Amino acid sequence: RAKACGRDRSERFDEAMRAEATRLLDLEADLRRGILQDAFEPYFQPIVRLSDGAVIGHEALLRWRHELHGILPPADFIGVGEDSGLIEQVDWLMYRKVIGMMTKLDAPGYVSINVSPRHFRSDDFVDRLMLLVDCAGADPSRLRIEITEVALLDDAPRALRMLSLLRERGVLVLLDDFGTGFSALSYLHRFPIRALKIDQSFVHGLGSDLHAESLALVRAILALASTLGIDTIAEGVETQAQRDMLDELGCQYGQGYLYGRPAPI
Ligand code: C2E
Ligand code: MG
Ligand code: MG
Ligand code: MG
Repeated sequence: RAKACGRDRSERFDEAMRAEATRLLDLEADLRRGILQDAFEPYFQPIVRLSDGAVIGHEALLRWRHELHGILPPADFIGVGEDSGLIEQVDWLMYRKVIGMMTKLDAPGYVSINVSPRHFRSDDFVDRLMLLVDCAGADPSRLRIEITEVALLDDAPRALRMLSLLRERGVLVLLDDFGTGFSALSYLHRFPIRALKIDQSFVHGLGSDLHAESLALVRAILALASTLGIDTIAEGVETQAQRDMLDELGCQYGQGYLYGRPAPI
Protein backbone atom coordinates (compact mmCIF):
# COMPACT_ATOMS: atom_id res chain seq x y z
CA ARG A 1 0.00 0.00 0.00
CA ALA A 2 2.79 2.38 0.92
CA LYS A 3 4.36 1.65 -2.44
CA ALA A 4 1.13 2.38 -4.27
CA CYS A 5 0.75 5.62 -2.35
CA GLY A 6 4.32 6.58 -3.14
CA ARG A 7 3.84 5.93 -6.83
CA ASP A 8 0.63 7.89 -6.78
CA ARG A 9 2.29 10.80 -5.16
CA SER A 10 5.25 10.82 -7.49
CA GLU A 11 2.95 10.59 -10.50
CA ARG A 12 0.99 13.53 -9.23
CA PHE A 13 4.25 15.33 -8.61
CA ASP A 14 5.45 14.66 -12.17
CA GLU A 15 2.18 15.93 -13.51
CA ALA A 16 2.39 19.11 -11.48
CA MET A 17 5.98 19.64 -12.62
CA ARG A 18 4.99 19.17 -16.23
CA ALA A 19 2.07 21.57 -15.89
CA GLU A 20 4.33 24.18 -14.29
CA ALA A 21 7.02 23.76 -16.97
CA THR A 22 4.36 24.17 -19.68
CA ARG A 23 2.97 27.25 -17.98
CA LEU A 24 6.43 28.84 -17.82
CA LEU A 25 7.14 28.05 -21.47
CA ASP A 26 3.80 29.54 -22.47
CA LEU A 27 4.54 32.62 -20.42
CA GLU A 28 7.94 32.98 -22.07
CA ALA A 29 6.38 32.70 -25.54
CA ASP A 30 3.76 35.23 -24.46
CA LEU A 31 6.46 37.57 -23.25
CA ARG A 32 8.24 37.37 -26.62
CA ARG A 33 4.97 38.19 -28.34
CA GLY A 34 4.42 41.05 -25.91
CA ILE A 35 7.82 42.47 -26.84
CA LEU A 36 7.04 42.26 -30.56
CA GLN A 37 3.67 43.91 -29.95
CA ASP A 38 5.21 46.56 -27.73
CA ALA A 39 2.62 45.68 -25.08
CA PHE A 40 4.43 47.23 -22.09
CA GLU A 41 3.70 50.59 -20.60
CA PRO A 42 4.50 52.64 -17.54
CA TYR A 43 2.07 53.45 -14.76
CA PHE A 44 3.00 56.41 -12.58
CA GLN A 45 2.71 56.77 -8.82
CA PRO A 46 3.27 60.10 -7.02
CA ILE A 47 6.02 60.61 -4.45
CA VAL A 48 5.13 63.37 -1.97
CA ARG A 49 6.67 65.51 0.75
CA LEU A 50 5.11 64.25 3.98
CA SER A 51 4.99 67.65 5.67
CA ASP A 52 2.57 69.19 3.17
CA GLY A 53 1.69 66.50 0.64
CA ALA A 54 3.35 68.35 -2.26
CA VAL A 55 4.22 66.03 -5.18
CA ILE A 56 7.99 65.96 -5.71
CA GLY A 57 8.13 63.26 -8.38
CA HIS A 58 6.68 60.04 -9.78
CA GLU A 59 7.88 56.45 -9.92
CA ALA A 60 7.32 54.72 -13.26
CA LEU A 61 6.06 51.17 -12.71
CA LEU A 62 6.01 48.55 -15.45
CA ARG A 63 2.70 47.07 -16.63
CA TRP A 64 1.99 44.49 -19.35
CA ARG A 65 -1.14 45.01 -21.36
CA HIS A 66 -1.81 41.32 -22.03
CA GLU A 67 -4.18 40.45 -24.85
CA LEU A 68 -6.06 37.90 -22.72
CA HIS A 69 -5.32 38.65 -19.10
CA GLY A 70 -5.52 42.43 -19.08
CA ILE A 71 -3.09 44.65 -17.17
CA LEU A 72 -0.43 42.55 -15.42
CA PRO A 73 1.95 43.77 -12.66
CA PRO A 74 5.65 42.81 -12.70
CA ALA A 75 5.17 40.07 -10.10
CA ASP A 76 3.27 38.05 -12.74
CA PHE A 77 6.12 37.93 -15.26
CA ILE A 78 9.37 39.29 -13.86
CA GLY A 79 10.60 35.83 -12.74
CA VAL A 80 10.29 34.36 -16.23
CA GLY A 81 11.61 37.62 -17.66
CA GLU A 82 14.73 37.38 -15.53
CA ASP A 83 15.31 33.67 -16.16
CA SER A 84 14.93 34.01 -19.93
CA GLY A 85 16.81 37.31 -20.06
CA LEU A 86 13.82 38.86 -21.83
CA ILE A 87 13.39 41.40 -19.04
CA GLU A 88 16.23 43.42 -20.52
CA GLN A 89 14.31 43.98 -23.74
CA VAL A 90 11.14 44.74 -21.81
CA ASP A 91 13.02 47.24 -19.66
CA TRP A 92 14.49 49.07 -22.65
CA LEU A 93 11.05 49.34 -24.25
CA MET A 94 9.79 50.66 -20.92
CA TYR A 95 12.63 53.15 -20.42
CA ARG A 96 12.20 54.50 -23.94
CA LYS A 97 8.51 55.07 -23.30
CA VAL A 98 9.01 56.70 -19.93
CA ILE A 99 11.76 59.00 -21.19
CA GLY A 100 9.68 59.86 -24.27
CA MET A 101 6.78 60.80 -21.98
CA MET A 102 8.95 62.97 -19.73
CA THR A 103 8.77 65.95 -22.06
CA LYS A 104 4.98 65.66 -22.25
CA LEU A 105 4.36 64.80 -18.63
CA ASP A 106 2.60 67.77 -17.07
CA ALA A 107 3.76 66.99 -13.55
CA PRO A 108 6.24 68.51 -11.13
CA GLY A 109 9.56 66.99 -10.15
CA TYR A 110 11.37 63.89 -11.29
CA VAL A 111 10.47 60.53 -12.80
CA SER A 112 12.19 57.44 -11.45
CA ILE A 113 12.67 54.15 -13.28
CA ASN A 114 13.48 50.75 -11.79
CA VAL A 115 16.77 49.27 -12.92
CA SER A 116 17.47 45.61 -12.21
CA PRO A 117 20.99 44.55 -11.14
CA ARG A 118 21.60 42.77 -14.46
CA HIS A 119 21.79 46.13 -16.27
CA PHE A 120 24.73 46.99 -14.06
CA ARG A 121 26.62 44.10 -15.58
CA SER A 122 26.57 45.62 -19.05
CA ASP A 123 29.10 48.35 -19.72
CA ASP A 124 26.94 50.30 -22.11
CA PHE A 125 23.98 50.79 -19.76
CA VAL A 126 24.71 54.44 -19.00
CA ASP A 127 25.45 55.29 -22.65
CA ARG A 128 22.25 53.62 -23.84
CA LEU A 129 20.21 55.40 -21.21
CA MET A 130 21.73 58.78 -22.00
CA LEU A 131 21.16 58.21 -25.72
CA LEU A 132 17.43 57.80 -24.99
CA VAL A 133 17.48 60.98 -22.91
CA ASP A 134 19.29 62.94 -25.63
CA CYS A 135 17.07 61.65 -28.44
CA ALA A 136 13.92 62.53 -26.54
CA GLY A 137 15.25 65.96 -25.62
CA ALA A 138 14.53 65.13 -21.98
CA ASP A 139 16.16 66.86 -19.02
CA PRO A 140 18.47 64.28 -17.35
CA SER A 141 18.12 66.04 -14.00
CA ARG A 142 14.43 65.09 -14.04
CA LEU A 143 15.26 61.39 -14.39
CA ARG A 144 16.22 59.21 -11.41
CA ILE A 145 17.03 55.56 -11.28
CA GLU A 146 16.01 53.13 -8.53
CA ILE A 147 18.35 50.27 -7.76
CA THR A 148 18.50 47.77 -4.91
CA GLU A 149 21.42 46.98 -2.65
CA VAL A 150 22.14 43.84 -4.68
CA ALA A 151 23.14 46.02 -7.63
CA LEU A 152 25.76 47.68 -5.43
CA LEU A 153 27.19 44.52 -3.92
CA ASP A 154 27.34 42.36 -7.03
CA ASP A 155 30.41 44.18 -8.30
CA ALA A 156 30.97 47.21 -6.10
CA PRO A 157 33.74 48.92 -8.10
CA ARG A 158 31.70 48.67 -11.29
CA ALA A 159 28.56 49.90 -9.55
CA LEU A 160 30.49 52.86 -8.18
CA ARG A 161 31.73 53.68 -11.70
CA MET A 162 28.20 53.49 -13.09
CA LEU A 163 26.68 55.65 -10.37
CA SER A 164 29.43 58.23 -10.72
CA LEU A 165 28.92 58.31 -14.48
CA LEU A 166 25.19 58.76 -14.02
CA ARG A 167 25.73 61.56 -11.55
CA GLU A 168 28.11 63.30 -13.96
CA ARG A 169 25.32 63.22 -16.50
CA GLY A 170 22.86 64.63 -13.98
CA VAL A 171 20.88 61.45 -13.19
CA LEU A 172 20.50 60.85 -9.43
CA VAL A 173 20.05 57.46 -7.78
CA LEU A 174 17.52 56.17 -5.22
CA LEU A 175 18.19 53.01 -3.23
CA ASP A 176 15.02 50.89 -3.44
CA ASP A 177 13.56 48.43 -0.89
CA PHE A 178 16.09 49.55 1.68
CA GLY A 179 16.44 47.25 4.67
CA THR A 180 15.54 44.01 2.87
CA GLY A 181 18.91 43.29 1.29
CA PHE A 182 21.95 42.18 3.21
CA SER A 183 22.70 45.80 3.92
CA ALA A 184 25.81 47.27 2.42
CA LEU A 185 26.29 49.46 5.46
CA SER A 186 30.05 49.65 5.14
CA TYR A 187 29.77 50.46 1.45
CA LEU A 188 26.90 52.86 1.52
CA HIS A 189 28.80 56.06 2.20
CA ARG A 190 31.00 55.46 -0.85
CA PHE A 191 28.15 55.50 -3.33
CA PRO A 192 26.60 58.70 -4.64
CA ILE A 193 23.03 57.99 -3.55
CA ARG A 194 20.39 60.69 -3.31
CA ALA A 195 17.79 58.91 -1.16
CA LEU A 196 16.92 55.65 0.59
CA LYS A 197 13.48 54.20 -0.06
CA ILE A 198 12.39 52.48 3.15
CA ASP A 199 10.89 49.13 2.20
CA GLN A 200 7.13 48.90 2.56
CA SER A 201 7.34 45.92 4.92
CA PHE A 202 8.61 48.24 7.67
CA VAL A 203 6.02 50.88 6.89
CA HIS A 204 3.18 48.34 6.97
CA GLY A 205 4.52 47.13 10.32
CA LEU A 206 3.82 50.52 11.89
CA GLY A 207 0.62 50.25 13.90
CA SER A 208 0.44 46.46 13.36
CA ASP A 209 1.38 43.50 15.57
CA LEU A 210 4.97 44.16 14.54
CA HIS A 211 4.82 47.79 15.59
CA ALA A 212 7.70 47.80 18.09
CA GLU A 213 10.12 46.03 15.75
CA SER A 214 9.12 48.10 12.74
CA LEU A 215 9.43 51.33 14.67
CA ALA A 216 12.93 50.40 15.82
CA LEU A 217 13.98 49.51 12.28
CA VAL A 218 12.51 52.65 10.71
CA ARG A 219 14.25 54.73 13.39
CA ALA A 220 17.56 53.00 12.66
CA ILE A 221 17.23 53.56 8.91
CA LEU A 222 16.35 57.24 9.42
CA ALA A 223 19.35 57.69 11.73
CA LEU A 224 21.62 56.04 9.17
CA ALA A 225 20.31 58.21 6.35
CA SER A 226 20.73 61.34 8.43
CA THR A 227 24.32 60.37 9.29
CA LEU A 228 25.03 59.88 5.59
CA GLY A 229 23.23 63.10 4.73
CA ILE A 230 20.75 61.49 2.36
CA ASP A 231 16.97 61.81 2.02
CA THR A 232 14.40 59.16 2.94
CA ILE A 233 11.27 58.07 1.10
CA ALA A 234 8.83 55.71 2.84
CA GLU A 235 7.25 53.14 0.48
CA GLY A 236 3.75 51.72 0.86
CA VAL A 237 2.22 54.48 3.00
CA GLU A 238 -1.42 53.42 3.24
CA THR A 239 -2.86 55.13 6.30
CA GLN A 240 -2.89 58.59 7.83
CA ALA A 241 -1.54 57.05 11.06
CA GLN A 242 1.50 55.69 9.20
CA ARG A 243 2.03 59.07 7.56
CA ASP A 244 1.86 60.86 10.91
CA MET A 245 4.32 58.48 12.57
CA LEU A 246 6.79 58.72 9.68
CA ASP A 247 6.56 62.49 9.60
CA GLU A 248 7.13 62.67 13.36
CA LEU A 249 10.12 60.32 13.10
CA GLY A 250 11.69 62.68 10.56
CA CYS A 251 11.10 60.83 7.30
CA GLN A 252 10.83 63.51 4.60
CA TYR A 253 9.01 61.83 1.73
CA GLY A 254 6.47 59.11 1.12
CA GLN A 255 4.70 57.11 -1.54
CA GLY A 256 1.69 54.82 -1.26
CA TYR A 257 -2.00 54.23 -1.75
CA LEU A 258 -2.78 57.00 0.77
CA TYR A 259 -1.53 59.48 -1.84
CA GLY A 260 -2.33 57.66 -5.04
CA ARG A 261 -2.19 54.31 -6.80
CA PRO A 262 -0.04 53.76 -9.87
CA ALA A 263 -2.01 54.98 -12.90
CA PRO A 264 -1.49 55.40 -16.66
CA ILE A 265 -0.22 58.76 -17.85
P1 C2E B 1 9.21 48.68 -6.18
O1 C2E B 1 10.13 49.42 -7.08
O2 C2E B 1 9.59 48.57 -4.75
O3 C2E B 1 7.80 49.38 -6.37
C1 C2E B 1 6.87 49.57 -5.35
C2 C2E B 1 5.73 48.59 -5.46
O4 C2E B 1 4.82 48.82 -4.38
C3 C2E B 1 4.91 48.75 -6.73
O5 C2E B 1 4.46 47.45 -7.09
C4 C2E B 1 3.72 49.61 -6.25
O6 C2E B 1 2.58 49.46 -7.07
C5 C2E B 1 3.52 49.03 -4.88
N1 C2E B 1 2.86 49.98 -3.98
C6 C2E B 1 2.89 51.33 -4.01
N2 C2E B 1 2.21 51.87 -2.98
C7 C2E B 1 1.73 50.83 -2.26
C8 C2E B 1 0.92 50.74 -1.06
O7 C2E B 1 0.53 51.72 -0.45
N3 C2E B 1 0.64 49.49 -0.61
C9 C2E B 1 1.07 48.36 -1.27
N4 C2E B 1 0.73 47.18 -0.76
N5 C2E B 1 1.82 48.41 -2.39
C10 C2E B 1 2.15 49.63 -2.88
P2 C2E B 1 4.48 46.97 -8.60
O8 C2E B 1 4.11 48.10 -9.50
O9 C2E B 1 3.69 45.72 -8.68
O10 C2E B 1 6.02 46.65 -8.86
C11 C2E B 1 6.66 45.63 -8.15
C12 C2E B 1 8.15 45.64 -8.37
O11 C2E B 1 8.45 45.35 -9.74
C13 C2E B 1 8.80 46.99 -8.11
O12 C2E B 1 8.99 47.18 -6.73
C14 C2E B 1 10.10 46.85 -8.88
O13 C2E B 1 11.04 46.14 -8.13
C15 C2E B 1 9.67 46.00 -10.06
N6 C2E B 1 9.50 46.85 -11.25
C16 C2E B 1 8.56 47.81 -11.47
N7 C2E B 1 8.75 48.40 -12.66
C17 C2E B 1 9.85 47.82 -13.21
C18 C2E B 1 10.57 48.02 -14.45
O14 C2E B 1 10.27 48.88 -15.29
N8 C2E B 1 11.65 47.22 -14.66
C19 C2E B 1 12.05 46.29 -13.74
N9 C2E B 1 13.14 45.53 -14.03
N10 C2E B 1 11.42 46.09 -12.58
C20 C2E B 1 10.32 46.84 -12.31
MG1 MG C 1 11.05 51.10 -7.14
MG1 MG D 1 10.58 49.42 -3.40
MG1 MG E 1 10.01 46.13 -4.28
